[in-house]
Amino acid sequence: MTEPVLTIVVPCYNEEEVLPETMATLTLLLEELIAESLVSGQSKLLFVDDGSKDRTWELIYKEGLRNDFVRGLKLSRNVGHQNALLAGLSAAKERSDCAVSIDADLQDDITVIREFILKYHAGCDIVYGVRKGRDRDSVFKRSTAQGFYKIMKRLGVDLVYNHADFRLMSKRALHELEQFKEVNLFLRGIVPLIGFHTDIVYYDRLERQAGETKYPLKKMLAFAFDGITSFSVSPIRMVSVVGFVSFLMSMVFGGYFLALKFTGNTETGWTSLITSIWLIGGLQLIAIGLIGEYVGKIYKETKQRPKFIVDIDTLNLPLPRRHFLDQELDYRKVSETSQ
Ligand code: UDP
Ligand code: MG
Repeated sequence: MTEPVLTIVVPCYNEEEVLPETMATLTLLLEELIAESLVSGQSKLLFVDDGSKDRTWELIYKEGLRNDFVRGLKLSRNVGHQNALLAGLSAAKERSDCAVSIDADLQDDITVIREFILKYHAGCDIVYGVRKGRDRDSVFKRSTAQGFYKIMKRLGVDLVYNHADFRLMSKRALHELEQFKEVNLFLRGIVPLIGFHTDIVYYDRLERQAGETKYPLKKMLAFAFDGITSFSVSPIRMVSVVGFVSFLMSMVFGGYFLALKFTGNTETGWTSLITSIWLIGGLQLIAIGLIGEYVGKIYKETKQRPKFIVDIDTLNLPLPRRHFLDQELDYRKVSETSQ
């Protein structure tokens, strides 16, 4: 059997601090895997620049000129981690037998990639990397993340517990992933829907090597909310239940207020009345807001907008890469000349 072509896809957003280290470590790993005949010599590292504002693309491009393992995909603007990852995976799928996705900060143990490959050889189409514990995360991150998985489970969304986007997917699985056309992309929820033969590899998650987290609280909350509303209609059902209960309660209170009226004590009812007006008004607003959330999603899906736009692709580029070196072109001008 010939060795499989592996592409390691790394989404990068403002990662100039950690990238040199990441590129060096992953190159070493790839060389080892090739030497052990686990993967083909054609295997590559694909760094996806998700519209970074720092020197990320410059680093990727320049490294690619002297390191033949390194290739780059430059997106036209920042589209977020999930879309950047998908962009990398779709660029990789034609020329690879399998692809591994991993974050640029090397928080995930890269030695696990060897086990991914071994499982791939054993016939797995999807291999999930799962964190053993979260001792290294801050208390806040740990509790919010665990709460998130628990809520998702309650809502009936099938997620692999403690699995981030560190996984191997075969060519077959990557092609099936393309079938999921939704715009509100939540890969962790979608990949389990693909099925096929899957397995899990456990590992310890490390601290970020350098730079800051690109997921501040605001993005984390948005991510969780998106994840829930993209996969489950339970919130809408919950609102209906609350609405029904409050309707019943208002009937009871209505009877009570009527009784008060007939006994002549109407003024005293003002407080409870005004409170219930606010209460019902609030509930209605929540309900409308939630319905709006789903309507907004439907609206986005029907537009079928592209999830990302590729600016430069040095993985599938038809021009020989040497071409750029000979002419000593500036890395920034590549997109203009290649069009
Ligand atoms: N990332 C991205 N686009 C974004 C935000 C993040 O491509 O808009 C990348 C980032 O460069 C990193 C990965 O997504 O490789 C995960 O981000 P980070 O490590 O900051 O998240 P955390 O591990 O703190 O959840
Ligand atoms: Mg990280």
